[in-house]
Amino acid sequence: MRDFQQDIIRRHGLASIGALMFSVLFVVASSLNPEAEAAPGLWYIVGVFWLGQAALLWWVISGRSRNLRDPAMTAVFMCWATTLISFFLYCCPQYRPIALLGYLTVMPYGVFRLSWRGFLGVALFTLASYTMVMMLQIHQQDLNWRPQREIIYGLAFVASLVAYCFLGREVAILREAYRMKNRELRRALGRIEELAVTDELTGLYNRRYLLRSLERSRALTDREGLPFVVALVDIDHFKQINDLHGHRVGDQVLTELAQQLRMSVREVDVAARYGGEEFVLLLSGLTLVDAEQVLNRLRVSVMEQRFSETGLPLTVSIGATQYLPGEETDELINRADRLLYDAKRAGRNRIVAQQGALYTSQLAGQQL
Ligand code: GH3
Ligand code: MG
Ligand code: MG
Repeated sequence: MRDFQQDIIRRHGLASIGALMFSVLFVVASSLNPEAEAAPGLWYIVGVFWLGQAALLWWVISGRSRNLRDPAMTAVFMCWATTLISFFLYCCPQYRPIALLGYLTVMPYGVFRLSWRGFLGVALFTLASYTMVMMLQIHQQDLNWRPQREIIYGLAFVASLVAYCFLGREVAILREAYRMKNRELRRALGRIEELAVTDELTGLYNRRYLLRSLERSRALTDREGLPFVVALVDIDHFKQINDLHGHRVGDQVLTELAQQLRMSVREVDVAARYGGEEFVLLLSGLTLVDAEQVLNRLRVSVMEQRFSETGLPLTVSIGATQYLPGEETDELINRADRLLYDAKRAGRNRIVAQQGALYTSQLAGQQL
C-alpha cells in the first residue's frame, strides 16, 4: 500500500514538472505575443490552475482519495491540465500548435492508469474543450478562419486522439492480463504455502507447521504467561490393522481419525500429524487439568466410533504435558513421548498427563 502511494506521488511529481514547463511556456508565449492584451489574464489563469493543482495534489498525497476507484485521480488531473491548455488557446489562438502539442502531451498520462472507457472520456473532454474554444474564437471573429485549414487541423487532432485511444485500449488489455496472471500467481502461492504445511494423507497440519506453532506458543507463554498443553496421540495396535486389512484400510483409518481430531479441538488449537500413526494436539490457553478433560472426551469418542468401511473399533493412547516456561521444544515433545510410552505400558486406551517438573522429579526418584 505504501509502495502504491509512493508510486502515485512519483507519477504526479513528474506530471507536475511537465505542467510547470507548459505553464512557463504559456506565460512567456503570451508575453511575447504582439497582440498581447490577453497576457495579464493568462497570468491569473495559470495562478488559478496551480492553486487547483496544489489542492488536488494535497487531496491525493494525504490519502483522502484512497477509497476512489483510481486513487491517483488521473482523469481529474488530465481534465484540469486540459482546461488550462484550452484557456491558453483562447487567450493566444495564434499559438494553436503549442496548445495542440499540450493536449497530446497530457494524453499519455492516462494510458497506463485509466480504463479504456475513462481514457475515451478524457479524449472526448479534450476534443469538446478544443471545439468549444474554436467555436468561441470563430464567434468572436478573432480567428483568421480558413475552413480547409481548420478541418485539416481538426482531423489531425482527432486522428491523434484516436491513436491514443487505441494505445490506451491495448495497454488496458495488457494490464488486465497482467492483473489476471498476478491473481493466478497469488492463488498458486497460497496453495503452495498451504501444501507446505499440510500432511498429504490426512489434510492435517504437518510436523513443520506444528514446530512453528510450538515456537509461537512458547514465545507467547514466556512473554505473557498463557499456558498451553501438548498431547501426543498414538493409535493402539495400528500395525495389526495394516496386517489384517491392508494398507488402504489403514490409510482410511488414519484419515478418519485425523478428521475426528480436527473436530475435537478449537480454532486456536493445532492438530497435526507428527509421524506415521502419531498425532500431536497443541491446546492453547489450557492448563493440564482442563486439557485432560478435553483429551478424555476425545479418547472416549474414538473408542465409541467405528472406522473405515470395515467398521473397525479403535483406541488411542495419549501422553500429555504442559509447557514449562523457558524449556526447549525438544524437551517438551520428549516428555510427552515418555508419557505416551507410560500410557502404552499401563495397558493402552488411556491418558497419562503430568506436569513437567513433577514428571522429571518422579523419573529422578525411579532412578535412585
Ligand atoms: P502400539 O499400540 O504400541 O502403538 O502399536 P502399533 O502397532 O500402533 O505401533 P507401531 O509403531 O509398531 O506401528 C505403527 C504402524 O503404523 C507401522 C506402520 O506400518 C504404520 N504406518 C505408519 N504410517 C502409515 C501410513 O501412512 N499408512 C498406513 N496404512 N500405515 C502406516
Ligand atoms: Mg501405535
Ligand atoms: Mg507409533
